Amino acid sequence: MSDLPASPIRVVAPATSELLAEVPDEGEAGVELAVEAARAAAPAWEALGVAGRGEALKKWRDTILDDPELVPTLVAESGKPRQEAEGIEVLYLCELIRFSIRAARKALREETRHPFLFMTKKTRLVRRPLGVVGVIGPWNFPILNNGADCVGPLVAGNTVVLKPSEVTPLTSLRLAELWRKAGNPPDVFRVVTGRGAAGAALVDRADGVMFTGSVTTGRKVAARAGERLIPCVAELGGKSPFVVLASADLERAAEAAAWSSFIHSGQVCIRTERIYVEERVADRFEELLSERVKALRQGVPDARSDRAHDLGSLTFPHQLEVVEQHLADALAKGARLVSGGKRRTDLAGCFFEPTLLLGARQEMAVMREETFGPLVAVMRVKDAGEALRLANDTHLGLNATVFAAADEAMAFARQLESGMVITNDVLVNGMLVEAPFGGWKASGLGARHGVEGVRAWTRTQAITVRRPLLARVERLIAKLLAFPYDPRVLAVLRRATRLLYRRGLVEKLRRPPGSPRP
Ligand code: NAD
Repeated sequence: MSDLPASPIRVVAPATSELLAEVPDEGEAGVELAVEAARAAAPAWEALGVAGRGEALKKWRDTILDDPELVPTLVAESGKPRQEAEGIEVLYLCELIRFSIRAARKALREETRHPFLFMTKKTRLVRRPLGVVGVIGPWNFPILNNGADCVGPLVAGNTVVLKPSEVTPLTSLRLAELWRKAGNPPDVFRVVTGRGAAGAALVDRADGVMFTGSVTTGRKVAARAGERLIPCVAELGGKSPFVVLASADLERAAEAAAWSSFIHSGQVCIRTERIYVEERVADRFEELLSERVKALRQGVPDARSDRAHDLGSLTFPHQLEVVEQHLADALAKGARLVSGGKRRTDLAGCFFEPTLLLGARQEMAVMREETFGPLVAVMRVKDAGEALRLANDTHLGLNATVFAAADEAMAFARQLESGMVITNDVLVNGMLVEAPFGGWKASGLGARHGVEGVRAWTRTQAITVRRPLLARVERLIAKLLAFPYDPRVLAVLRRATRLLYRRGLVEKLRRPPGSPRP
């Protein structure tokens, strides 16, 4: 590591190209300090119990809802419309806090297991937090995949160090300020700003890692977590298919396809990345979708008023190049441009017109690699079988959508290789905090949300004790098992093993204590 301090991070408003702020790259040293402070704060935070931690989270939620600066900060640094900042990100955080407090009561509840084999014992399962959880986030959802991903670890009793994306760190800094303003212990939730090296330093020091970002970085993070043998949840990229079968409601499908393709200018991991439509209904669906895409309103989002555009700017200028590459590749291979197709030179920021392609083929980059921008392509398929084969023909498996009659949609969904599927609707499954949110294949490891999303940040301790009334039986068993070994004891154990387990006798007994209910 170089001894020179890293240069400050310039945070630029992507919709206007104005400099918003400079924040330090705190690097390894900053991460070390934050983790030490968070570690010192952990015992008292755990001791508060779910009720105490829940109160702290609710106070934080109130200060967030009362703060006039959070939403404008988020709009300015991300370039997304205010409706998405407030109506999706803030709403989601509030709902996640509500759910996580309830889920934590269940996830952390102690239980007793009654073993069958050693029936003189009982085992108490105690759930303890990991310690300090490192949360590392991407730039596309400054609340949703940065601050909000701290909620599960916090409510489970961990302290958290968040390293937000260097592209959009201001919202996370504001969230930490609001945490302190709510009167909560500052070292329980710390934000460290920095580039990739700061993220790597956090993975090197935390007791568990919640990572959201690209597949490339996710592999590095998971590999390092594997070396350190610490738990790691990785939420990575997507190439979500949107399938329209002949039995679908085409009007609704077209409306949903337009929204899910162009929300936040396409910079959403579970967005529609590619569309397959059954040939029989393709003319009508394509016509409806084209109308909707042509009607989209794009402009500089107004952070301080409710004046609405449908699309703002891209957040990360690199995405412009990806969109242009995928577009050029598709056009060269025969796709037809229906609308959009170029950068907005009339605006100072990072804008690309909402772009729709028809006549796509599976070998095009736009159907195979994550585009993550305001470009989507439609491919016609002869039937549901072909749609299924092509939808599954990807190294990613985060989310998928199918529009069809209910039974057909369900049958289709079951065959998709995807961690999440939604039928006859789009995207809202990402906000359903009760259900696990996680990808298959290279889209990730583990999941956020659900009771699982809290329990993931705990470790289980199994404490086995003697059942009080069975002390004498237990002494007898202990004597049989202990030194010195005796061939007669082995003979007894062998006979007992055969008596119980041969020909499935044990399964014919009344349900032994401790075994799961059928
Ligand atoms: P990225 O991988 O470039 O960066 C993500 C974070 O990792 C940043 O904070 C970055 O500083 C940090 N980082 C970089 N190198 C690191 C290292 N070696 N060790 C630890 N941390 C490091 O991703 P991005 O460009 O910010 O985000 C876009 C990607 O995120 C897209 O692929 C998108 O699909 C994905 N994403 C996934 C989800 C999901 O829930 N599955 C949600 C949002 C975004």
